[in-house]
Amino acid sequence: MNGEKAIICDFDGTIAVRDIGHNFFESLVSDISLWEELLEKWKIGLISSKECLMRELSMIDACREDLDRFIENEKLDPYFKDFVDFCEKRKYEFVILSDGLDYYIDSMLMNNGLGYLDFKANHLVFEMERISGIEFPWFDRIDCTLCGNCKRYHIEELKKRGFTSIYIGNGYSDRCPAEYADIIFAKSDLLVHCRQKGLDHIEFENFRDVERELTELLYREQG
Ligand SMILES: [Zn+2]
Repeated sequence: MNGEKAIICDFDGTIAVRDIGHNFFESLVSDISLWEELLEKWKIGLISSKECLMRELSMIDACREDLDRFIENEKLDPYFKDFVDFCEKRKYEFVILSDGLDYYIDSMLMNNGLGYLDFKANHLVFEMERISGIEFPWFDRIDCTLCGNCKRYHIEELKKRGFTSIYIGNGYSDRCPAEYADIIFAKSDLLVHCRQKGLDHIEFENFRDVERELTELLYREQG
């Protein structure tokens, strides 16, 4: 693990305890079975997350207030703030990468005094306070048919700048970057994926685990 380190974190289900985007759509779609069918197609790679998100959006009718109310009760990993401090002290590059939506990421970070953190996600568009569309500023930067905001692209950019990439994630949108990151911290679906693919990984439950494992890695590196 030589050189400058870049910490790259997924948001939904990793920094946020629950999958905010997923649960928000689930709470609003009128036809759950149609929605579940859609998600299944995405999980097995038949459609990209861009297409999946666009179709999910067409299944709901909601405004900013609905989303704000939904976010209110959602929590971040209780050890995330300490982990951010840990990274800042060591001057690690730190970025949050999400194939979800910028609005709730920004709100939840702001609500927790972490609004200054850098993140890259898809852009939720409002029109007269109603949720009206999604823009994909990071789409098609790289040859990937799975993602809306392919995290692999951002990791490759960091690697080009000489960083050792340390990736922390839990879900399906972490499959692309997991093949490319130098070190992978994995839980839930990503953990299953890493095991199936035989990818080297470190299992974790929360950010205290990540901090402990990283400290050990650093210690060994210096020793
Ligand atoms: Zn991808």
